[in-house]
Amino acid sequence: MTASDSALVLAADVAAGRRSAVSICEAALARVATLDGRLSAFLEVTAEHARRRASAIDADVAAGRPVGPLAGVPVAVKDNICTTFGRTTCGSKMLASYASPFDATVVERIERAGGIIIGKTNLDEFAMGSSTENSGYFPTRNPWDTERVPGGSSGGSAAAVAADMVPLALGSDTGGSIRQPASLCGIVGLKPTYGRVSRYGLVAYGSSLDQVGPLARTVGDAALMLAVLAGRDPHDSTSAEQPVPDYVAALDDAHLADLAPRLRIGVPREYFAAGLDDETRAAVEAALDVYRRLGAKTIEISLPHSPYAVATYYLVATAEASSNLARFDGVHYGHRTPRPKDIVDLYSSSRDEGFGAEVKRRIMLGTFALSAGYYDAYYNQALKVRRRIKDDFDAAFAQCDIIAGPTSPTPAFRLAEKTADPLQMYLADIYTIAANLAGVPAVSIPCGLSQGGLPIGLQLMAPLFEEVRLLQAARLHERETDWHQRRPAIVAAA
Ligand code: GLN
Repeated sequence: MTASDSALVLAADVAAGRRSAVSICEAALARVATLDGRLSAFLEVTAEHARRRASAIDADVAAGRPVGPLAGVPVAVKDNICTTFGRTTCGSKMLASYASPFDATVVERIERAGGIIIGKTNLDEFAMGSSTENSGYFPTRNPWDTERVPGGSSGGSAAAVAADMVPLALGSDTGGSIRQPASLCGIVGLKPTYGRVSRYGLVAYGSSLDQVGPLARTVGDAALMLAVLAGRDPHDSTSAEQPVPDYVAALDDAHLADLAPRLRIGVPREYFAAGLDDETRAAVEAALDVYRRLGAKTIEISLPHSPYAVATYYLVATAEASSNLARFDGVHYGHRTPRPKDIVDLYSSSRDEGFGAEVKRRIMLGTFALSAGYYDAYYNQALKVRRRIKDDFDAAFAQCDIIAGPTSPTPAFRLAEKTADPLQMYLADIYTIAANLAGVPAVSIPCGLSQGGLPIGLQLMAPLFEEVRLLQAARLHERETDWHQRRPAIVAAA
């Protein structure tokens, strides 16, 4: 099955004329048709658009025109990223019929690079959640165990990649939404440095935290996608001018040769405290052993403000969300109630009908945190703690090159296990949130399976704009292990 090949191999084959983009696209669509009835990873499959793009790539190859680094590679896109083809619903009834008049910069870059976008994936409504159960449409299921969640909020993208429907997908990560689902689905998920990738066309949740990034089966494919996405975009003033290194070439064996003995890996003691599942702890320890065997040094470090990260995040993120989501009022954007009594009812009923419970909870929390009289006690205080968390990372990176620990405190949990208790759900991001507050890049890579056969992820974090170092460290582990080659049973059976 061609869909199980890496994006690097597929693109090279298409560019060389060994395989046609159309046949790869059809294989991906066929796998979606076979598997997605059981997984519900996609909100919409944009088959006609994909077929047109694939034919265009094949025509370019036949005519000897240059094709890009993603030539013919099927890609899935989280549905909070705007596309002119298909709808962009954000997993919300609010935007059930929204068709974007423009493509997000990341979408434009993927298509310019020859990537074939085959559909839009499911998510927690407006990316608020850790299980994809907050989708306004249906939950997505974990390919490793369909009674369990794929994580979230980019659960549809993670499931699509883990089930070999596509080699690459886009997610967005505000507090862990790329890394945590990657961990729960046994794949690679990368949150770039804040500002590394344009957010133009990503529907905003927490604007000072949001980043778009790749979900992939290998570190090399994640690097390939990052190379396509990264770089300054005049449409996003927060995108960085920083030059874009060759992330793929940086992973050559030659570049990795003497890396391990020079690598100092910081292991934060706060990430191994109460609440960490035993099997997860053991798998992460085993991953650290892999690095030690290669000659790397591991040193215990402290990120002393970690215990405040979740509380800080849920003030900053909800405050920003309450402002960002004000535009969905039935007038500017989104669902409009059919028979409003008056203008106030037009706004309030449209919002009441369009938003789900979690989104409403967060808008209320954020509005409260920003309100006169409480602003200093909550929002301003959270900004101060955020600064401390950032300082923790600066101090840590004075002692080490990379920080390593678990991505998620547990493997995939059961559907409905945490839906009744939002606080339990919020704790799913306890190890991922700090990277967003500090802006640093972080990746989750597969590092084990539980007794019950559920994937476990290792999280690595690096200083600002050190994605090369991050990917190289991830690749060192991948080269020594075969966790990235394990596939869920549903894939073998398909
Ligand atoms: N689970 C976190 C939240 O609910 C993070 C979500 C995200 O990264 N988009 O906000």
